[in-house]
Amino acid sequence: MSQSRLQELRAQVDVINLQILELLNKRATIASEIGKVQQQMGTSFYDPQRESFMLTMLEQNNKGPFSNETIKALFREIFRATMALEEKEAKAKILVQRKSPDQATVITLPDGETQIGGGKFQVISGPCAVESMEQMDETAAALVTRGVKILRGMVFKPRTSPYDYQGMGEPGLKIARQVANKYGMFITSEIMDASQIAMMSDYVDIFWVGARNMQNSFLLKSLGQVRQPVILKRGLAATLEEFLYAAEYIVSSGNPNVVLIERGIRTFEKWTRNTLDIGGVAVLKLESHLPVVVDISHSAGRRDIAIPLARVAKASGADGVMVEVHPNPPVAMSDAKQQLYIQQFHDMMDAIERVSLEAEPVR
Ligand code: PEP
Ligand code: MN
Repeated sequence: MSQSRLQELRAQVDVINLQILELLNKRATIASEIGKVQQQMGTSFYDPQRESFMLTMLEQNNKGPFSNETIKALFREIFRATMALEEKEAKAKILVQRKSPDQATVITLPDGETQIGGGKFQVISGPCAVESMEQMDETAAALVTRGVKILRGMVFKPRTSPYDYQGMGEPGLKIARQVANKYGMFITSEIMDASQIAMMSDYVDIFWVGARNMQNSFLLKSLGQVRQPVILKRGLAATLEEFLYAAEYIVSSGNPNVVLIERGIRTFEKWTRNTLDIGGVAVLKLESHLPVVVDISHSAGRRDIAIPLARVAKASGADGVMVEVHPNPPVAMSDAKQQLYIQQFHDMMDAIERVSLEAEPVR
C-alpha cells in the first residue's frame, strides 16, 4: 500500500518538474524578447528596480510552505541564469568575439607576404620615437638583418608631462618613410586625432592607437574608415572587456584589420613600470580572433628583463612581440630606461628563436 502511494506521489512530482521546466524555458524565451526590446530602446537588460518589484510580488503571494527567504533565493537564481543567457547572446553578436576555435584574423601587409596573425611570430620594433635620420637608419639596419618588417615610426609622443619630448611631427614621418623604403619595411605610427588621418596616410602602413587613446571612440570610429590595418593598445587601466569593445568600434566601423597589444596594466608593483598581464593575453586569444602582440617594453619599463618576457610572450600563444630598440638608449629623448641596445635586441632574437612551439602547440 505505502509502496504504491510513494510511486503515485513521485509520479506527481515528476509531472510538476516537467511543468516547472517548461515554464522556466518559457520564461527565458520571454525574457530574451524583453532583452531585444530593451536593446532597441537602448536601455540596459539589468534593471534592479524591476527585480526588486518581482521579488516583493512573490513575497506577497507566497502561501508557503517555503519561507519568503527560500523563495527569494530560488528566484534570484532564476534571474541570474536569465542574465547569463542574455550575456551569452550579446557576446555572440560582437564581431571581434571568436566564434569557433580555428577562426583567426590574418592581416596581410602590402607586400602580400608579411602577415600578422598568420602563424609566424612577428617582431614589431624600432625606437620609442623618431629622433633623427641617423638614429632611424642605424636601428632599421640592425632590425632588418633579423627579418623585422614592421618599424616603429613614432612622431607624436603622448607624454605624461607637457614639458617632455613631444615628437618630431610630420618631418619625422618623412624620415621614417625614407628609412622604411630603404630597407623594405613597413611603418607604423601613433595617431592622436582623427584630423591627422589624411596627412599620416601619405606615410604610414599601419595606424597605431596608443594606450591613452584606447577609449577615444571617435578616433576609433574614424579608423574604421581607413584602408590600413590598426594596432590598438590596451589602456592603462582597461579591462579586457573594455579593450575588446574598443577594437569592436574599429571593426564595426568597417576595418576588420585590428591588432591588439597588451602593454601592461597599472598595479601596486613598482619594480616594473606596469604589470604584464600574460594571463590576459591567453584570454584575449581565447575570446577573440584578432591577432595579439605583447609589448615587452612599456609593460616592463626596463631592458634587463627583455629576454624572459619575450620568451614568455612567444610561449603564451601571442602572435608577436613589440620591443623598443635604440642605437644609444641612455641618450634617447623618451623611454631611455627601457629601450634595448642593438646587441640586446640580437640576444633577444636569439632567445625567441630558441623557443619552439612545435612540441606543444598553444592554440
Ligand atoms: C608606445 O608604444 O609608443 C607607447 C606610447 O606606449 P603606450 O601607449 O602603451 O603607453
Ligand atoms: Mn616608448
